[in-house]
Amino acid sequence: MTSISANLQAVNARIVSAARAVGRDPATVRLLAVSKTKPLADIRAAVAAGQRAFGENYVQEGVDKIAALAGEGLEWHFIGPLQSNKTRAVAESFDWVHGIDRAKVAERLSAQRPADMAPLDVCIQVNVSGETSKSGVAPAAVVPLAHVIVALPRLRLRGLMCIPEPTPDAATQRRRFATLRETLEGLRLDPALAGQRFDTLSMGMSHDLEAAIAEGATIVRIGTSIFGARTAAMASPQAAGG
Ligand SMILES: *Cc1c(COP(=O)(O)O)cnc(C)c1O
Repeated sequence: MTSISANLQAVNARIVSAARAVGRDPATVRLLAVSKTKPLADIRAAVAAGQRAFGENYVQEGVDKIAALAGEGLEWHFIGPLQSNKTRAVAESFDWVHGIDRAKVAERLSAQRPADMAPLDVCIQVNVSGETSKSGVAPAAVVPLAHVIVALPRLRLRGLMCIPEPTPDAATQRRRFATLRETLEGLRLDPALAGQRFDTLSMGMSHDLEAAIAEGATIVRIGTSIFGARTAAMASPQAAGG
């Protein structure tokens, strides 16, 4: 067994026990393998071990990998910061975008999504850490942005995503993820959004997936625990953009 397949097994086991610990069906939590900065060979090893969904942060790197692995039946999620001048490549290649935080980016993605592809699944990125983070919209700004997105024909708003400030403190982790869960609950109660199917809480990374699952994560985004450490310059999810 390669170490990547052993790591994947270990991560899947963590997901199962975290879900069971809070009485959730483990099948309601999907594993997104974050392969940014990692070579094709590593992705192929994960595919051979049964992994299907992959997350990438950098537009060109992601587009190249998607082309190289076309025909494998994989699902690709763009999880990095996205500048509006790079939306076209994302709209033409990826299946999901997790970090929507501006109407302009959403509008461009919808306009640029090819007609022969399924609508692009998207999540709004929420700043759940207050002043300690600048990425994502404030919880109070989620509903107005959701109104814009649900009116866009080529996007499908699936839910919310967050990247809390890194902390080893389990209580703080839980509080941040609870904020995202409560924000999604609020979105579901908005009368103007009745009938929408918001089923996604994209939250939890290698160091905090247990807390995220305890608060309702439906997608956990895991890089390091599957593929090993990245080089320092690219270690931070907030570092370097699109
Ligand atoms: C890199 C990254 C991850 C994975 O982080 P790990 O700590 O390596 O598991 C998850 N989400 C986002 C948005 C990232 O940029």
